[in-house]
Amino acid sequence: MSSDNEGTTSSSESEGADSVKGNATLEFIENLSDVPMGRLPSNIEFQRTRVDCKADAPIHTDTFQYSGAYSSMRVENSFLDNFCDNFRVEVIRLTEDEMEFDMIGIDPALANAFRRILISEVPTMAIEKVLIANNTSVIQDEVLAQRLGLIPIKADPRLFEYAENNTASEKNTIVFKLDVRCERSGQRLSVKSKELVWLPNGSEFPLESQDSKTGLSSKPKTYTSFTCSQDSLPEFSGNPISPALGDILIARLGPGQEIELEAHAVKGIGKTHSKWSPVSPVWYRMLPEIVLLEDIEDQLAEKLVAVCPVKVFDIEDIGKGKKRATVARPRACTLCRECIREGKGWENAISLRRKKDHFIFNIESSGVFPPEVLVTEAVKILEDKCDRVISDLS
Ligand code: SF4
Repeated sequence: MSSDNEGTTSSSESEGADSVKGNATLEFIENLSDVPMGRLPSNIEFQRTRVDCKADAPIHTDTFQYSGAYSSMRVENSFLDNFCDNFRVEVIRLTEDEMEFDMIGIDPALANAFRRILISEVPTMAIEKVLIANNTSVIQDEVLAQRLGLIPIKADPRLFEYAENNTASEKNTIVFKLDVRCERSGQRLSVKSKELVWLPNGSEFPLESQDSKTGLSSKPKTYTSFTCSQDSLPEFSGNPISPALGDILIARLGPGQEIELEAHAVKGIGKTHSKWSPVSPVWYRMLPEIVLLEDIEDQLAEKLVAVCPVKVFDIEDIGKGKKRATVARPRACTLCRECIREGKGWENAISLRRKKDHFIFNIESSGVFPPEVLVTEAVKILEDKCDRVISDLS
């Protein structure tokens, strides 16, 4: 008993001594002039916020988006606080099919989630079933069906339901007809996507039914069960459905060759098949930042301007016949590293960086939606996912 007590006492004493030593060390660090408490030293701040692109490879590529990452320096690194204060979107360029915008104050993982949602989770309409009545062209039926599937359809998928129970109705299916024949002898006929004709009343191909076998007359059933014509619906009356682009080549027919088919489009997402993806490419890059650490003058300045393929650098006159290189267009930098390839001297004089929380996004729509609508739809999907996670947690 006595020895146990002694042992306990000696262990507590050593823990107390360790704690005093630890506090003294912390106090020593806190009092160092180059370790400011409450904010990060400049070199750590640089590593936290910038990717440093060296001649052989980039460094400091990690991100530290958790609140305790710098707790030893009494710096709160909470992602949510920073996000709410700093996040913003700036549209740089917007055309009918393309959009370039900056997403500022966001973590790379979230920026990438947004990119992936755009590619694979924003729904569109695409041709899923092709009923071929006649195809005497040189293209096999399967190849023809695959080509038709990849034609973007200009129809708002928000107005349609998913075709879950295999019953094609006016609420979940769009039917197109293609009926072409090359009549001209000695010439070939190019069949393009504009030849696809929308059938607002649904399929015209009759289903083989018991009635038709027995000869009893009734209204022939078709491959769709539309209760009304789609063009009688207010959404489509002034806005007929068609392929997004009319000049996509489907086939080339020789004299006498013909194609007769029906193509049925349904709602889907790019995760199932890329034909439902609403974007051609969507990509992002971190904002380039180029800093000249030393003055680069005269002939060296001219050499630097000449070596950059996208003309990032310019020359300014600094008087007395001298010239100095300046960074004029940093956003254009492609990180080819030509400017720092010629040796250590150049690498020491030019710092190529990327801002870790500033993304330049480029979206090219396939033509189904304008790009700004795609962004809004992707944000809604991301919001829904967050709501689901929150409700699952609570
Ligand atoms: S990395 Fe390439 S594009 Fe960027 S500044 Fe240097 S030479 Fe120009």
